[in-house]
Amino acid sequence: MTTTGTHQSPARHQLVITLAAAALLALASLASSTAAPRASAASSAGDTACGGSYRWPVKPFNRPHPVRANFGDPRTTFQGPPTLASLLTSAGEFSFHFGIDISVPDGTPVYAVRSGRARTFGRWNVAVDSGHGFTTQYWHIVTAIRPGQNVTAHETILGRVQKGYEHVHFSELRGSRPVNPLAPGHLGPYQEHAAPQVTAISFRVGRSTQEGLPERLSRTIVPVAQVQDQPALPVPGLWRDLPVAPALLTWHIERAKDGRDVVRRRVAFDVRQTLPQNASFWSYYARGSRQNMCTFGTQRAWRTPGTYLYRLVRDPFDTRALSNGIYRFVVTATDVRGNSASHGQVFIVRNGAQT
Ligand SMILES: [Zn+2]
Repeated sequence: MTTTGTHQSPARHQLVITLAAAALLALASLASSTAAPRASAASSAGDTACGGSYRWPVKPFNRPHPVRANFGDPRTTFQGPPTLASLLTSAGEFSFHFGIDISVPDGTPVYAVRSGRARTFGRWNVAVDSGHGFTTQYWHIVTAIRPGQNVTAHETILGRVQKGYEHVHFSELRGSRPVNPLAPGHLGPYQEHAAPQVTAISFRVGRSTQEGLPERLSRTIVPVAQVQDQPALPVPGLWRDLPVAPALLTWHIERAKDGRDVVRRRVAFDVRQTLPQNASFWSYYARGSRQNMCTFGTQRAWRTPGTYLYRLVRDPFDTRALSNGIYRFVVTATDVRGNSASHGQVFIVRNGAQT
């Protein structure tokens, strides 16, 4: 029914495969409150080693196209109606966007980026296995291939973008793990010049969704950053001017009076190479987040920009690790090509008598 599908259900089909393999990694990562998503760090060297760039799956192949959804964007479908209560508590389907959405007109021919053996899955999707664990996927196309057909990069038409979709969803997999196609050494040419913006930093009390005032924080808090980026090239049509996610978020805490670091740089979110598990979606995105043109119950919020809120810690941060005093919480957001911008929020820690 929707004309600009977000394909959560088939996404699960793909990601379920990775779930078992990465479950132990994810558990290990979650167990350590300060750790970056370890899967990312672990895979980065391997990805680079067997990398090698490839061109775009739509014409012109050697020119960048607008990307209306990034790798790691939130994909949220709430069961509840469009209310604040739903936003904060509703069940639904929540996942990380496991590829990029390349904005093109309906009917645009889509080509394999590497030669290989093609198969269809679902009704509107094609996967091309190019060997050595390198697979690409092309979603929302009226397929034009026979299952098992050998296809030639940038020659064989895999299909044409389905009516109403205005994009092809493109995924790159190494083995069964989705990797960021916009990382250097993958899809190209691609440039970004403007950094993502950190627009607000707030502090939630304990594990609740209630906000504490920065004027007085105590006990445990979850710092949350609102961040958004804009596509490198303007997106036409229904998805114009809607935000996309950053690739990396880090934070640190400085003492206000002299800027000295009291908590050194930590990684909060890192999809430069690969994704966290969908099961941990609400450990990375903070409740209150929703995707662009989100669906609540039976209603789709057409043209409504998403809100991207990031939990900067997996487990609440204990302010008692700091002396009572005035600090600056600094968040740095970086895109997949390394453009970054920081934003600071002053806060005051006041716990009871300290020994
Ligand atoms: Zn997509």
